Amino acid sequence: MTAELIDGKAFAEAVRHRVRDRVAALHAQTGQAPGLAVVLVGHDAASEVYVRSKGKQAVQAGMKSFTHCLPVDTPEDELLGLIRRLNDDPLVHGILVQLPLPAHLDARQVINTISPAKDVDGFHTSNVGMVGTGQDAIVPCTPLGCMMMLRHYHDDFRGKTALVIGHSNIVGKPMARLLLNADCTVMVAHKSSTNIPELARLADILVVAAGVPGLVKADWIKPGATVIDVGINRIPAPELGEGKHRLVGDVDFESARQVAGAITPVPGGVGPMTIACLLANTLSAFCHLHDLSVDPLLLDEQDPT
Ligand code: NAD
Repeated sequence: MTAELIDGKAFAEAVRHRVRDRVAALHAQTGQAPGLAVVLVGHDAASEVYVRSKGKQAVQAGMKSFTHCLPVDTPEDELLGLIRRLNDDPLVHGILVQLPLPAHLDARQVINTISPAKDVDGFHTSNVGMVGTGQDAIVPCTPLGCMMMLRHYHDDFRGKTALVIGHSNIVGKPMARLLLNADCTVMVAHKSSTNIPELARLADILVVAAGVPGLVKADWIKPGATVIDVGINRIPAPELGEGKHRLVGDVDFESARQVAGAITPVPGGVGPMTIACLLANTLSAFCHLHDLSVDPLLLDEQDPT
């Protein structure tokens, strides 16, 4: 069997298209556009790339983009003050603080200062708790994108078994909660788990977010399973030239695709969906803040295609 490739770029384009159309319609209706504020502290090279891309894609979707770049030694009070001003700014509907933050800043305190209604990353404790209890809330972008792609292959999760490898607050835990909310039977493994290959072989749905290149081998995968590889790892690629690197996931893609039913590539799988879902969350936040109906597709983690 050769797995079907899950084309994250095509899924992301479907989400962006839907968001663009809805933003244009809302603009015609209300004269207003959703505004996304992104806050970056310091000069982490990867974060700068992500922040630029988020701003650019927000503008392409017809939104307003506000980027705040602060020095690496910004005192916490100053950062919290900026967040409070953004909370009160009627032109801003979504606020995102790019992680990781410099070590002197308390990330939990910073995230929890964002108004939950504008927390488009879905990391505020209030949103985490609401998602955990199956209530409508802002869902973290990466797991939201994974669910949208999974919906294309599983319109009913009941009776399906899933394994999520990785239990971070931004990917693994919310991913497991969303699958559980959809009545999947969910297992979660992490770096202290001892029997991951056996658990993986039970899984109809395997989501891997460990940050370990090639962790999942073909013989871990149940034949026909849907495999979502969230991992993004930069590894040396001398075959491309001296000092060159390439991106790989957490799944040994070439062998895994011989066993899986469907699989996301890296790059081109989960990655493109994350920013598309950030736009979807910003649109949903705008609708909630203006008491407008929210596109149910974007709320219910539906297949966007
Ligand atoms: P993290 O470091 O916060 O968490 C890693 C998780 O994996 C932990 O729960 C840890 O216990 C587990 N783990 C580590 N080694 C393991 C092993 N050998 N076996 C089993 N579990 C193991 O990472 P994160 O922020 O959740 O990100 C995970 C990966 O996903 C990274 O490669 C990251 O770059 C990528 N990522 C991609 C996107 C995207 O948009 N595609 C978004 C977020 C993260």
